[in-house]
Amino acid sequence: MHEITLVTGLFEIINEQVAAQGIKSISRVRLKVGELAAVEPMTLAACFEVVAEGTVAQGAQLEIVEVPLTGRCRGCGESFRIVNFNFSCPACGGGDVELVGGRELYLESLEATMKSL
Ligand SMILES: [Zn+2]
Repeated sequence: MHEITLVTGLFEIINEQVAAQGIKSISRVRLKVGELAAVEPMTLAACFEVVAEGTVAQGAQLEIVEVPLTGRCRGCGESFRIVNFNFSCPACGGGDVELVGGRELYLESLEATMKSL
């Protein structure tokens, strides 16, 4: 279970934003998570809730955008969804496939209330 490590890392980024931008409270956190990141969304959400307690992100809604594993064939240029780790191109059968999506794991956006100046 590496979700707690991910959430801790996520909070390092959030705290930087909070300090840099004078955020008062965070209402929504949107994460992009690739299929290959092997993250269990329910576990991630539960960890988030625990770590968020007592911070500006307490009660924030965690939105997880899952990114499917996608490949692009270097032979014919076809883009396709990779299922069952089958890395051969469905169009030409070639095996020279570049991974273009599915490894993402990053904070996409924050919805926050700023401190009034
Ligand atoms: Zn191909």
